[in-house]
Amino acid sequence: MAPWVKTGGLGDVAGALPAALRALGHDVRVLVPAYPALLRAFPDALEIARPHWLGGLLPTPSLRQALAGDGTPLLLLDYPHFFDRPGNPYLGPEGRDWLDNHLRFGLLSRVAAWLGSEASTLDWAPDVIHCNDWQTGLAPAYLAYRAERRAKSLVTIHNLAFQGLFDHAALFELGLPDEAWTMDGVEFYGHLSFLKAGLQHASAISTVSPSYAREIQTDAEGMGMAGLLRHRSAQLSGILNGIDTREWDPARDRHLPQHYGQRRLEGKAVNKANLQAEMGLAVRADLPLLAVVSRLTEQKGLDLFLEVAAQTLALPAQIVVLGSGAHGLEHGWTAFAHRHPGSCAVRIGFDEGLAHRIEAGADIFVMPSRFEPCGLNQMYSLRYGTPPVVRATGGLADTVIDAADEKHGNGFVFGPATGEALFAALQRAASAFQEPTLWRRLQKHGMARDSSWREAAGHYVELYESILREAS
Ligand code: ADP
Repeated sequence: MAPWVKTGGLGDVAGALPAALRALGHDVRVLVPAYPALLRAFPDALEIARPHWLGGLLPTPSLRQALAGDGTPLLLLDYPHFFDRPGNPYLGPEGRDWLDNHLRFGLLSRVAAWLGSEASTLDWAPDVIHCNDWQTGLAPAYLAYRAERRAKSLVTIHNLAFQGLFDHAALFELGLPDEAWTMDGVEFYGHLSFLKAGLQHASAISTVSPSYAREIQTDAEGMGMAGLLRHRSAQLSGILNGIDTREWDPARDRHLPQHYGQRRLEGKAVNKANLQAEMGLAVRADLPLLAVVSRLTEQKGLDLFLEVAAQTLALPAQIVVLGSGAHGLEHGWTAFAHRHPGSCAVRIGFDEGLAHRIEAGADIFVMPSRFEPCGLNQMYSLRYGTPPVVRATGGLADTVIDAADEKHGNGFVFGPATGEALFAALQRAASAFQEPTLWRRLQKHGMARDSSWREAAGHYVELYESILREAS
C-alpha cells in the first residue's frame, strides 16, 4: 500500500482506490499487514481487537487502527513475528519466498474473513470484502466454510502468474477443513492455491483491464486457471486501474527539477537535459531518449528490448533503464550499458524519485510486455507527454492508441512478442519524434486522457452493488 509498502502496481492501487471510493460516499477500510514502514508511520495506532481461535497454527494477532493522511482508516494487522521483517513483503534476503508465507498471508486472509463474520468484535462490519491477489485469496474460502451470516467478497486479480501455491500440509496449518481439498475447493494440481481458492469462492471476480479479463479465459494465457475462469465468466469483469493523479502530475511533481503541462511543454526539455546529465548520458536534445522503468522479468519483455538495443542506439537514440529483478536481465542490461557509455544508462534498484524524473525526462517509454494485466507506467507516460511503445496486450491495449489513428493516437502499438516487431515500432516512434507537429499531437492526446481513479472507483461501486443484489 503506497506510499508505505510497494513492490508494484498493487501498491499504487491500494494506496489510491480507497480514497476514491470514500469520495463517492462509501465507508472503506483497509486491512494491511503491519510491515515496518507502517509501524514507523503509525507508532501510536491503538489496538481495537485481538481475533482469537483462528484455527490451525494461526496465531492471535493484534488489530490496530490508524488513519491515513487522506482520511482512510487502516486496520493494521500486527503480528511482529510475521510482518515486522526487513525488505520485501514477500521475499527473504536471498530473494526467495519467506518460508512461512502461507501462514503470513493465511493470517491476513483469515482476519479479513473474521472481519466479515459474526465472530468479529468490532462495531463495524463490511458488506463486501475486496480481496487483492493470492495473498488474500483464502478470505472467500474461510467465509465459505462457515455457516454463519457473512460478508460478500470480490477477488481482484492483479497478476494471474502469482498463484500462492503450497503443499498439502498447509491445509491443516491454515485451519481449513479436509473437505476443502477438492477440485472445487482449494486444491490445484496437487497443491493448495490461495488464488484458486479465492476464484472458486468469491462472490465475483475482477481483473484490472477488460482485455486481460478476456485473455485469462484462454488456455494460452490462463496460467492453468482458464477453465475455472471460463466457468465463472458471468461473474468476471475487467476494470482498468486509475493512477494517483496527485503523485503523478508533471505540473506539481515534487521529484522534478522543472514543472510542465500540456500548454507548457517546453519545461519537459529541462527535465530531459537534467536526466541525461544525472544518468551520465550525452546531453542531446535532438536524440530521442527511450526509457524503461520496470521489474526486470520475462513478463515485461525486456529481453526483447535488449535483443534490439544495439540497433535502437543506432537509430540514433539513447536508452535509460531503471529496474531490478531477474539476475540475467540485470546483468545483460548492465553489461550493455558498459559497452555503450553516453548512449545507454542502466540503474539497478528501486528508486521512486528517479522513476518520476525518467517519466518526465524521457521522450519515449518502452513496454514490450508479454502480458500486462493493466500496467501503470504507460499511463504515467501518457500523462507526462512521453508517448509509450507497447505490445498489444492486456491493459496496454486498452490504454494506448497507435499513432496511425490521427484523431486519437497517443503512442505506438505492436503485435508479435518478437524483437523484430518491437524494433519496427521503436523505429516508427523515433522517426515520429523528428516531426514536431505530429509529436506534439501524440503528446497532447496522451496528456488529455483522464486516468483518474474517480471513474474506476465508480465501476467498483457498481460491481459491489451488483454483488450485494445477488443472492448468496
Ligand atoms: P507491475 O505491477 O507488474 O510491476 P505496473 O506497471 O502495474 O507493473 O506497476 C509498476 C509500478 O512500480 C509503477 O508504479 C512503477 O513506476 C513502479 N516501479 C517498477 N520498478 C521500479 C523501479 N525500479 N523503481 C521505481 N519504481 C518502479
